[in-house]
Amino acid sequence: MEQILLVEDSRAIGTLVRGKIQSTLGIKVHWVQTFQETVRALGIGEPYCLSILDLTLPDTRSGEIVDFVLSRGVPVIIFAGRLDRELHESFWSKMIVDYVLKDNPASIDYLVSLVRRLFRNRFIDVLVADDSESSRLEIANLLTIHKYNVFYAKDGQEALAVFEANPGIKLVIVDYYMPRLDGIQLTREIRRWHSKEEVAIIGISGRQQANLPAMFLKNGANDFITKPFVSEEFYCRVTQNVDLLEYIETIRNSSNTDYLTGLYNRRYFFELGRKLLAGMRRGHISLAVAMIDIDYFKRINDTYGHEAGDLVLKQLATLLKERFRATDIVSRYGGEEFCILAANMAGEHAEAVLDRVRQQIERTDFDLGFATIRLTVSIGLCHSDFGRYETLEEMIETADTTLYMAKEEGRNRVRLWGPVAPPH
Ligand code: GH3
Ligand code: MG
Ligand code: MG
Repeated sequence: MEQILLVEDSRAIGTLVRGKIQSTLGIKVHWVQTFQETVRALGIGEPYCLSILDLTLPDTRSGEIVDFVLSRGVPVIIFAGRLDRELHESFWSKMIVDYVLKDNPASIDYLVSLVRRLFRNRFIDVLVADDSESSRLEIANLLTIHKYNVFYAKDGQEALAVFEANPGIKLVIVDYYMPRLDGIQLTREIRRWHSKEEVAIIGISGRQQANLPAMFLKNGANDFITKPFVSEEFYCRVTQNVDLLEYIETIRNSSNTDYLTGLYNRRYFFELGRKLLAGMRRGHISLAVAMIDIDYFKRINDTYGHEAGDLVLKQLATLLKERFRATDIVSRYGGEEFCILAANMAGEHAEAVLDRVRQQIERTDFDLGFATIRLTVSIGLCHSDFGRYETLEEMIETADTTLYMAKEEGRNRVRLWGPVAPPH
């Protein structure tokens, strides 16, 4: 189990920091109050992935603890009461994670967000493109201290190849002068396919070239750092860019998904669906639209309460999500109505596939916490093999009509518009 070592002699601050990290991040914190206890804790051989160190402790000189903890290979965040100019610089030169001042109540929130950032960084891939080995290593080292996953390239062409081979890369740090493809050309190449909201690019170069920052930014970089830089500024810029990417992703996800089930919402269903339909019209793919509606859902709400109804909707959403391929679009179309858009599901199989889904739902126990219940669904299906459809709306309307038929005919069944459906 991963844990953080907190060294803090103040009871009040120690309690607060440990409490906040454990409750908001769920990470275990081992809190000790003296240098001696720190020595003992690290001596036992317990692994710590990070430490948070107070500088003024009753049993040691200021700062001694930092050297000791670093010598044991544990990354250090200094959480200090005041800023000592000389010490501050010497700490940064020892490659600490950050120096946080506890001079106001918001400091603890900053500390918690920093720890959260570091834990997330382990899943963030960063590419460093620089032809100078020393500078490449220096940047990579800084990134590694902040727990990023680092890839390297020693020229622009190699960077492009590494970038393309690793689609998870979210941040690219590019030097300007590089053989084969320079930093600005590399930025332009990456921007041909990836927007600023998807991949952040930070340009780097020396102080002499005053026009480079503007050049980088005009060609699509998100930010720029001038060499030589201090680690603190480097981290601020990197963190700011990564935070922004995540923020944009969160907004995008929340506007595309339904809050209750996590499935795509109706708006996003149409956005994705229209793209698929364009492919269908060009003759590349066939499309099936299935409208799934819970039978007598109102009775479930009336009998067990609205919250129980919500639980049912969530479990059904999970079942549908697991049942269809990742390339199919599973959405919550309305209250208790789900719409699925499946590409290249053969017309003659679609009905059988959906009927197996219907049977699985019929056999599933939905857990309400205090009881389990069974339910059925009716499904209306429309397939592009059995009709000429120009718009997604037309396909959905047809699926809605067949859904209505399924309900009329007694529910708990699949109806397909096409060869087996009666003419209208
Ligand atoms: P049918 O078999 O004809 O589909 O009957 P039904 O009762 O399922 O259909 P009806 O349209 O009469 O009722 C749908 C109900 O779904 C009414 C509404 O309160 C409920 N509902 C819609 N959205 C939600 C939701 O988010 N949570 C819960 N718990 N209920 C919802
Ligand atoms: Mg260079
Ligand atoms: Mg219903």
